[in-house]
Amino acid sequence: MKDTTDTMKISVLSSGSGGNVTYIETPQHKILLDAGLSGIKIQRLMKSINRDLNDVDTLLVTHEHSDHRKSVGILARKYPNINVYANKGTWNAMLTKIGKVPEAQMNIFPPDSVKDMGDIDVESFSVSHDAAEPQFYVFHHNNKSFVVLTDTGYVSDRMEGVIKNADCYLWECNHDLEMLRNGEYSWPLKQRILSDKGHLSNVEGADTMLDVIGNRTKKIFLGHRSHHNNMKSLCHLTVASILEDHDMPVGHDFKLYDTDVEQSSGLIVI
Ligand SMILES: [Zn+2]
Ligand SMILES: [Zn+2]
Repeated sequence: MKDTTDTMKISVLSSGSGGNVTYIETPQHKILLDAGLSGIKIQRLMKSINRDLNDVDTLLVTHEHSDHRKSVGILARKYPNINVYANKGTWNAMLTKIGKVPEAQMNIFPPDSVKDMGDIDVESFSVSHDAAEPQFYVFHHNNKSFVVLTDTGYVSDRMEGVIKNADCYLWECNHDLEMLRNGEYSWPLKQRILSDKGHLSNVEGADTMLDVIGNRTKKIFLGHRSHHNNMKSLCHLTVASILEDHDMPVGHDFKLYDTDVEQSSGLIVI
């Protein structure tokens, strides 16, 4: 008989330019992806989904920007059960910023590789972003997959191949182009965000989704929204209308979820 409890559960605990943390759980593992808020805030968010940082065994880090690695060092020192994974470039770039991490907890997760962690396979893939060696991850458990992709200037064919037709996505929709263009950011910062190594806009997020989602895809979280250059309703409407224009049955075959900084999505079964 099929074990109906053998599921992957996820919670987007915090997503946006103010801090990123995602929780992934299988029967054998309790995993955090990024720790871009203070330890206290992450513990509070874990509590809101009835989970505890003491039970987390794995922390994967995508890149060294502070909205992704703020409390990596603090969590590693406070919770000796947490194995921390990042690639070499990210370790080198963040070590001076996060303080000492006990060597026994430091692990290398090379780009474009798969780690078999027992009941979950985790796959890394490189992205195009202005960090040392940024990479994001796909989580495979019991024939289901969850993709996290934010902080990239574009989606390459190679990336598309790795992330195609997953059951669930956390997908970057960083900014509204007009809001960014007309906003108060300096021109160099605007250029950085708009560049190939910056962030996906709402429209780019929707356009790239169209190339990747498939008949398995049931849930898409709109993530990494800019605090200054986007709005929740605008982001949602922009993506939904582009998908609908391409005959994608939003709300019927799959659902779009909004995300927030420091407010969890709740715990969701993939
Ligand atoms: Zn970044
Ligand atoms: Zn970021």
